[in-house]
Amino acid sequence: MQSQTHPALALGVDVGATKILVGTVDRGGRVHRSERYAMDRNSTEAALASLRGAIAGFLADGGTDGIVGVGFGLPGLTDSATGTWVNCTNVPIPSPVPLAAEMMERYGLRAYLDNDVHAATTAEIAFGVGRSARHFIYLNVGTGIAAGVVADGRLIRGALNYAGEAGHMMVEPLGVLCTCGQRGCLEATSSGGGIIAQAKETALADPTSSLYEAATSGRLTSTLVFAAADAGDAVASGVATRALFGLCYGITSLANLLNPEIIVVGGGVFADGWLLPRLQKFVGTYALRNVRRSLRGIVPSELLVDQVGLLGAASLAWEHES
Ligand SMILES: [Zn+2]
Repeated sequence: MQSQTHPALALGVDVGATKILVGTVDRGGRVHRSERYAMDRNSTEAALASLRGAIAGFLADGGTDGIVGVGFGLPGLTDSATGTWVNCTNVPIPSPVPLAAEMMERYGLRAYLDNDVHAATTAEIAFGVGRSARHFIYLNVGTGIAAGVVADGRLIRGALNYAGEAGHMMVEPLGVLCTCGQRGCLEATSSGGGIIAQAKETALADPTSSLYEAATSGRLTSTLVFAAADAGDAVASGVATRALFGLCYGITSLANLLNPEIIVVGGGVFADGWLLPRLQKFVGTYALRNVRRSLRGIVPSELLVDQVGLLGAASLAWEHES
């Protein structure tokens, strides 16, 4: 099957709420070619047409020559055993889609799929921190919060392939209402979406806050909130402190529960560098002594932020085809 002139490649398909990134990745984690396509979320038919069109469009150049398998990183619930995208809320997938069977029928390629945070964690196992640690936690704090737990070199997938919903760990009694319907979830106060929502609500009630103008014009970001907190703004300080402490409690609890060697963090909320040193200090002080002894660090992911989804998708194929 393997071409003599080209290296063996996995086809990765990173599906997001607004875009689809398709690319070829070699066994060492090098992206050979990638293309970005739009995701049309107006209907189930439109979303699936976007996905099928993206793959067909990418393969129009060079076909399947040298491709050993396909990996899909998907939002929502996936069934890795049957290769099915089960359902999703932010892309209109109300009923199961048998993607692996479809790829075999259309292209004669074996396909593997998982949710996006499991895929990113598989990329860390194959190409990132997992090369130096067998027990680690991958934590992504972006618009939402999710985690991948790796024990003895293996991703913990859970009974329904749904393990890792760290954003819905409850960290505050009677806390902020979360998108899941419960109160006090980590995601409600400490995700990018949660920080912006909290800052908007409190800044709009206080015109003296330096965040007031950004709140009225919809330009709030977590970076703006952290910078205003450092400058002494009381509203920003309250929101940033609450976000920080949620993560401090959540991550310390995860570390105490799982005894990782490394905690690797990714996602846009870590990008400006405000959270990480504060988290490191808290966990380094308050985690159990033996947990601290074996924790080598809380470190940013070494994988490129705009590639991790694609690497994750491709690594699902490499997990089986290598
Ligand atoms: Zn929740």
